[in-house]
Amino acid sequence: MSGPLFVVGLSWRTAPVAIREKLAFREEEIAGVLDELRAGPEVAEAMLISTCNRVEIYGVAKGDAIDAAGAVRAHLAKSRGLHGDPQVADALYHHAGDAAIRHVFRVAAALDSLVVGEAQILGQLKDAFGVAAKRGATGAVLGRCLERAFGVAKRVRTETQIARGAANVSSVAVELAGRVFGDLTGKSVLVVGAGKMSTLAARHLRRAGVDEIVVTNRSPERAERLADEIDGVARPWDRLEDLLIAADVVISSTGATEPVLTRPLLKKVTKARRWRSLMIVDIAVPRDADPAVGELEGVYLFDIDDLEKVVAANLAGRARAAEDAGKIVDHEAAQFEQWLRSQHVVPTIRALREHFTRVAEAEAQKTIDTLHRKELTPEQRDEAVRRLAQLVVNKLLHRPQTALKEAGPGSAERLVESTLELFGLEPVAPEAPEAPEAVDPPAPPEPGAVSEAGEGRAGARKAAANDTPGAR
Ligand code: NAP
Repeated sequence: MSGPLFVVGLSWRTAPVAIREKLAFREEEIAGVLDELRAGPEVAEAMLISTCNRVEIYGVAKGDAIDAAGAVRAHLAKSRGLHGDPQVADALYHHAGDAAIRHVFRVAAALDSLVVGEAQILGQLKDAFGVAAKRGATGAVLGRCLERAFGVAKRVRTETQIARGAANVSSVAVELAGRVFGDLTGKSVLVVGAGKMSTLAARHLRRAGVDEIVVTNRSPERAERLADEIDGVARPWDRLEDLLIAADVVISSTGATEPVLTRPLLKKVTKARRWRSLMIVDIAVPRDADPAVGELEGVYLFDIDDLEKVVAANLAGRARAAEDAGKIVDHEAAQFEQWLRSQHVVPTIRALREHFTRVAEAEAQKTIDTLHRKELTPEQRDEAVRRLAQLVVNKLLHRPQTALKEAGPGSAERLVESTLELFGLEPVAPEAPEAPEAVDPPAPPEPGAVSEAGEGRAGARKAAANDTPGAR
């Protein structure tokens, strides 16, 4: 059985944007999915992250992680009406146990991003965890895993060069436009949307020396705020058609779930432009531009997956940083795996400690009572303390000793091995069979009492020596 953690999902590595957008979840849908998953018999904890690069569920299984991952795969596809779709089935992956931990850590460290080292994924992961935690869908294991994942991301950013000069999807979109035109100076660029990605794109456009940056957005205030910041111009959303006619390049990244750059709209636009070339870089998921727009004459449409080629060239120079970051992830993942494994034994350790303490305290109390009750000589007091120690040893050894003696073939070897390992003992050669006698040594007599055999302390020592193999 693998560890309890599992990951199910798809990402830019396994699924083109056309599939990713079908599986994408809006924030307001996520709590419902988490409730459904946890209502079933497989999933104890869960969170869901849905970004332009990935849709993934991180979970903790009630039983076997592979079984839980299978159930979540089916649920994920079904919740989008894509159960049985072979493309979705091919694109979905799952990881369980240690592999799942490594995956979560790599995602947090932006090592699994389309643009390696980008800063956005960490915020998205924190938001996704926040939504799940607020819903009560996370517990100790996922909580600790994500806490460590955030720590790993911080280490990777501060201890490696991965984030230095790192790009993001928006800056790569601008870079792609620059490559197509050779130079963006003198061009007019229309930014569609005014959210986080549009803001990043607009800032990069300004740095790239674009002459005119026009921002349009559903809510005009946001467009104006962004235009002010980058010294651009804000234009009303209902003028989109005219704005498209005037632009050389369009960078679009709205959160719309249906295309805003539709084929009928762009058909009118291309006609009005007299088929002058128009470059559209659509970094939204779901996509802002209907893919059919790319078939129109004079329209050069790029989507988020087209950025991969630019990214690959950028990454080549940062292979060393990625390697350093990978080592941090491996080290941290190994530590977390160890912590997770230790969680299985914590209740046993606690029970063992409580049992030992109960036995020791009960015997100690009897000795204290004796010491209070009787006037003892210093020698007798010493004897009382030794007797206490011996009684505790006898009581604690009684059960394991019986179990060892009564174990059947097969289990006897296993028990002997475990005993030697647990107590750090050297293996001892088997002795000649014992004559049948009492399993436990007789309790040593109370101090001050006269032993029938006249042995007292010596007798107790002998019994102890018979019972106790040599410690290392
Ligand atoms: P965001 O900060 O929430 O901004 C969303 C923008 O989309 C706002 O300007 C919003 O306008 C607009 N919008 C939302 N629904 C709309 C609709 N129905 N019609 C027209 N405009 C609408 O989101 P973001 O993080 O910038 O992401 C935007 C897009 O980029 C998403 O498709 C996302 O998948 C993709 N993307 C994000 C990242 C990332 O790291 N965040 C990376 C790559 C791609 P209002 O101001 O009127 O609300």
